[in-house]
Amino acid sequence: MSGVKRVDPRRPYRLSPSGLRRIVLGESAGVGLQFGAISRPHEKVKPRRTGEPAKRWHMAIAHSNRGRLDDHAREAIAAAAIIATPETGVIAVILGELHEDIAALGADRIIVIPELDAARFQPRREVVAVQMLLDEYRPEHVFMPDNMLGDGDLGRRLIAKHESSQAATQVVELNRRHVSVRWNGTALANAALPRFLLLAPGTVDIDLPYVGAGEKTQPPQILGVSEVGRDLGHEPTEMSDIALEEADFIVSAGNGVHNVETIDTLARTLGAAVGASRVAVDEGKFPRDKQIGASGKTVSATTYFAIGISGAVQHLQGIKSCRHVIAINRDAGAPIVKRADLTVIGDAEELMQALITRVEQARSQGEAGEVER
Ligand SMILES: Cc1cc2nc3c(=O)[nH]c(=O)nc-3n(C[C@H](O)[C@H](O)[C@H](O)COP(=O)(O)OP(=O)(O)OC[C@H]3O[C@@H](n4cnc5c(N)ncnc54)[C@H](O)[C@@H]3O)c2cc1C
Repeated sequence: MSGVKRVDPRRPYRLSPSGLRRIVLGESAGVGLQFGAISRPHEKVKPRRTGEPAKRWHMAIAHSNRGRLDDHAREAIAAAAIIATPETGVIAVILGELHEDIAALGADRIIVIPELDAARFQPRREVVAVQMLLDEYRPEHVFMPDNMLGDGDLGRRLIAKHESSQAATQVVELNRRHVSVRWNGTALANAALPRFLLLAPGTVDIDLPYVGAGEKTQPPQILGVSEVGRDLGHEPTEMSDIALEEADFIVSAGNGVHNVETIDTLARTLGAAVGASRVAVDEGKFPRDKQIGASGKTVSATTYFAIGISGAVQHLQGIKSCRHVIAINRDAGAPIVKRADLTVIGDAEELMQALITRVEQARSQGEAGEVER
């Protein structure tokens, strides 16, 4: 007999983020993988970016959406940390509520101003509040997402107020000395690192190897500032009317979905837009403008719910920028399982029906807070 230790391949295992099986040591064979929800293992604890006291500051400013930051806002904070020296502190100013920890994005100091949420149009109050913080901290550089959701507007108001030529919009590359900005659609222009930087989406990798101190600080008091216009509020749009490229939540059907009506109902119930794989489109179940993938649309939803989709490489190309992928598939070995953060193994129709029933029950029992759109 050789002395090589044998490992029972049927021992319990977890799937690593790269899709490899990791045998769970210390657990007896025979238990097997519990089919159902498969989620990623916990990540390692990361070190602090710097232990030195801040002598100067970088400031990142962004609106939250229902207490969370989208990837674009996260990139602005991460950019402030990436460019920082050990003696530079990073302040994240969040306009709107914040229900998540953003120290992992490199934020050393976090200032949340809940009353300035993006749902209300209050540009004057925002400028006054941010100006108070600019006066207090005098940051060397200010980073913001260049978007249509209020940050791009606020950023330009600040630049105008400071009459600053020290500003760059649509920044697509940066280091400690220079920025490249998108100019005229496709051309690039280079400039020295300015004071105000409005970043294009996708400029920065938010998976940093370190964390910030994450201390919370009191927000400034905004007193006696009135707005010029009257805010008439937001008008809700039907998700089906929203272009897939702009949708934040997409429920997508593949060849494993046989009943189009069920997926439409599920999407309506969850407040999501509907997408599809090429096979589902080729079969005539969905119009061509719903196709997601290499020869269809590229989407960047926060949540992508792939139902009965195998996860072919051409499909995955279209969902590269989606933040959370949830899958339903009856095959635990389908490639989508490797891409998904959570996979439910089972029959698509059965699980969709169960989910619709559960959400409707929860709504009617007044648990709307938990399942609200
Ligand atoms: C040049 C080129 C460009 C392409 N462009 C695109 C593109 O833009 N978009 C795109 O999507 N594809 C594209 N494709 C096609 C791609 O390669 C795949 O064929 C396609 O994505 C497969 O679609 P699917 O996953 O829906 O179907 P399938 O591959 O048939 O997979 C169906 C999945 O559903 C699961 N399933 C079946 N029944 C059930 C059930 N009852 N309950 C739960 N799960 C079930 C199966 O386990 C399987 O994983 C392209 C291919 C080429 C060559």
